[in-house]
Amino acid sequence: MTNIAFLGLGHMGLPMAINLHKAGHSIAGFDVVPAAIDAARAAGLSVADTAVDAVIGAEVVITMLPSGKHVIDAYAGDNGLLANAAPNTLFIDCSTISVLEAREAHDLAAAAGHRSLDAPVSGGVVGAENGTLAFMIGGADDVVASARELFEIMGSRIVHCGGDGLGQAAKVCNNMILAISQIAVSEAFVLGERLGLTHNALFDVAAHASGQCWALTTNCPVPGPVPTSPANREYQPGFAGALMAKDLGLALAAIEATGVDAQLGRHAQQMYADFAAGIGANQDFSGIINTIRASSGA
Ligand code: NAD
Repeated sequence: MTNIAFLGLGHMGLPMAINLHKAGHSIAGFDVVPAAIDAARAAGLSVADTAVDAVIGAEVVITMLPSGKHVIDAYAGDNGLLANAAPNTLFIDCSTISVLEAREAHDLAAAAGHRSLDAPVSGGVVGAENGTLAFMIGGADDVVASARELFEIMGSRIVHCGGDGLGQAAKVCNNMILAISQIAVSEAFVLGERLGLTHNALFDVAAHASGQCWALTTNCPVPGPVPTSPANREYQPGFAGALMAKDLGLALAAIEATGVDAQLGRHAQQMYADFAAGIGANQDFSGIINTIRASSGA
């Protein structure tokens, strides 16, 4: 049994913490929102009164917070998690944050005498509930090995991507592919509509030809061909446009920091920023097809 402080008991963090609890680990949960604390208590988790109380006695501190600023603010300072944890505590940040912020978090942890990993996830709330998340991990080999058992409780695919920050690098690159391919599939369906192709005819060809990809065969942006597609339920997420816009903002930061000529990545970032600011914040990101239809005229 490991004593784990779990900070951030939202859509993702709560089910992840519940799975660790069910596997026999001792959880001290904390969230800044009282409703999240209440939900954790109702689920049978122990909760602390403050973040500092949660980390006292913890061997592992897991954070699942909205952004990099939240993580750095929670880690740093005299009242922060790092200063109040026992020496050599293992800090695992599962939030999606920028590569630069992840490296800053690693540096802060090392300077305070702790071990750390960046371990963002994919798989969404369903994956968090079912313990089938995919973890992309950055950090030292021995540190990853020491946490593998915990990752295997919360996830079903664990990839050690390299050193500090490279878990976040893998996440940002994967989601940039996803966004670009979702836009490509959506543009193709709108073009097919204008040319007189039925959705099923285009799907039957592309799903078995070189246009095949997850955005088509699992997250098809039109209703009909794929039973589980968000388009069949009026674009209820799924993966919300606001989260895709956030992840592409991190991709843009990485593109600018490295100077890579990622023209499609930049364009996808702008399209999803507009989508999230308009109709798409709470829609599945495949709803971008409706934006493309609207801007394609009658
Ligand atoms: P969420 O907003 O539901 O949960 C975040 C929680 O952190 C909130 O309850 C908030 O009150 C809490 N919080 C904020 N500051 C805190 C602090 N200092 N101490 C303790 N708690 C604090 O968000 P979520 O959907 O659970 O996502 C969490 C992270 O996972 C994000 O970085 C997101 O990008 C990433 N992610 C989400 C999904 C998804 O499908 N929701 C999928 C993959 C990755």
